[in-house]
Amino acid sequence: MIEAQETELMGSLKLTSQILRYVTNYLQDHGFLQMLPVMLGRSTDPLGPDPNSSILKTIEVEYLGTTMRTMNSMILHKQVAVRDVGRIFILSPNIRLEKADRKASGRHLFEFTQADFEIPYGKMKDVFSLMEGLLVGLTSHIGAEGIRKVDGEPFAFKGPFRVYSTHELEERYGEDWEYKASMDHDQPFWATCHRREFYDREDLENPGHYLNYDLIYPFGVGEALSGAEREYDYQRIRTRMGKDKLAMDIYASYLEEARKGFVPSAGGGFGVERLTRFLRGAAHIGDVQLFRRVPGEVPGI
Ligand code: AMP
Ligand code: MG
Repeated sequence: MIEAQETELMGSLKLTSQILRYVTNYLQDHGFLQMLPVMLGRSTDPLGPDPNSSILKTIEVEYLGTTMRTMNSMILHKQVAVRDVGRIFILSPNIRLEKADRKASGRHLFEFTQADFEIPYGKMKDVFSLMEGLLVGLTSHIGAEGIRKVDGEPFAFKGPFRVYSTHELEERYGEDWEYKASMDHDQPFWATCHRREFYDREDLENPGHYLNYDLIYPFGVGEALSGAEREYDYQRIRTRMGKDKLAMDIYASYLEEARKGFVPSAGGGFGVERLTRFLRGAAHIGDVQLFRRVPGEVPGI
């Protein structure tokens, strides 16, 4: 029993190592500089309003008279970095104190790593082709061992992935479209146009629509990546933050950077553990972690 479990975990760890090596090489080969992660900042991703977000709180700590926050994601820092150094990516540890009931989703952790990238002057289609190239290249590179089987064959990503708007998906599958649509596909697909955080750019030619996207894994596994063309205009950022009723004082240093000027960009981030889970075909994302970090479970060491 213990031996079987160790083999399973070892297989997941080997796959995670392969993924990390492939992702690092792929992004570096595509001109991205790898940044080391920021872990404490004065401001971090508010993670909302987004109907899919369910954290209990953001961790705040007083440090030498300043309130610092652990990273929900590095999106705010990415907007500064992409302006200052161009194409960047980070293997970014995120802490998200998800509600206990998220355990049942099979894909939520309270601590995970995001492969997070940003393209200056990028557009949606640039992110789509970058990600498709990455995933197709990954499965053709890693071999068959320990990979989920589909019709007796190891799963391989095949691009380009289909693109839908959330409006189409809602029409076809109802408001809770994600699981049903995911079950209905055997390759990932893109879902565009979600109403969510202020940093996702609104389509000015089509107000009320958003230039953002999720990549959804098939077979019921669900969300793989979220990203967007970013809002870079200082005034529009302020307006969107006001609409979201965000506490502006928390974002003062971010707004100061925005006032200096951001460049237009597009990017995204995908959870490394979710990719491992998907490719392994594991029942729960916690099963691919050496040190389980599952909401609602008291962790071991
Ligand atoms: P977000 O921008 O919040 O969608 O996060 C980006 C990506 O990180 C998601 O698409 C997931 O792949 C991954 N992710 C987000 N939250 C979690 C979580 N609680 N546990 C594991 N992975 C997550
Ligand atoms: Mg998301």
